[in-house]
Amino acid sequence: MNEVQPVKQFLAEEHDHDGCVKQAMQNAVRICRDRGLRLTAQRRRVLELVWNSHKPVGAYDILNALNSDGKRAGPPTVYRALDFLIEANLVHRLDSLNAFVGCPDPNSPHTGQFLICRHCRSVAELDDQAISDLIISSAAATGFVAEEQTLEVQGVCVACSNQSN
Ligand SMILES: [Zn+2]
Ligand SMILES: [Zn+2]
Ligand SMILES: [Zn+2]
Repeated sequence: MNEVQPVKQFLAEEHDHDGCVKQAMQNAVRICRDRGLRLTAQRRRVLELVWNSHKPVGAYDILNALNSDGKRAGPPTVYRALDFLIEANLVHRLDSLNAFVGCPDPNSPHTGQFLICRHCRSVAELDDQAISDLIISSAAATGFVAEEQTLEVQGVCVACSNQSN
């Protein structure tokens, strides 16, 4: 039992982020193996770049980092790798920021509920089934069949609100 608990809250500024990255890469290897997906070197590198921190990164930041590795990747390469990682539940896309963040708990299928700090841009992921169920049932009351949901909540994280006090 060496599973790290999924991030259900914002992590302290100084935490063992190498541990987060290591866990994320182990998850990716296992999930791709179990589902018969090919985790190429390029996809692995893109995932590492997404996991650079808990702040969402844009596709062009990833592209610049890849190219500074000496690769000559174009935007389609990055978008294809991101699509693969999203499809495999390893990465989430945050539409409100047009950016990407690594999923700390890709093992369980879940809808995305994100708390986004507007000061430091850190993101924490909630996985609250009660919220999903409520959206599904409220939608169903109108005859609508909810299939996918991504909830993005903007606000201030605990570290940033402590700083301003
Ligand atoms: Zn971390
Ligand atoms: Zn997730
Ligand atoms: Zn913050």
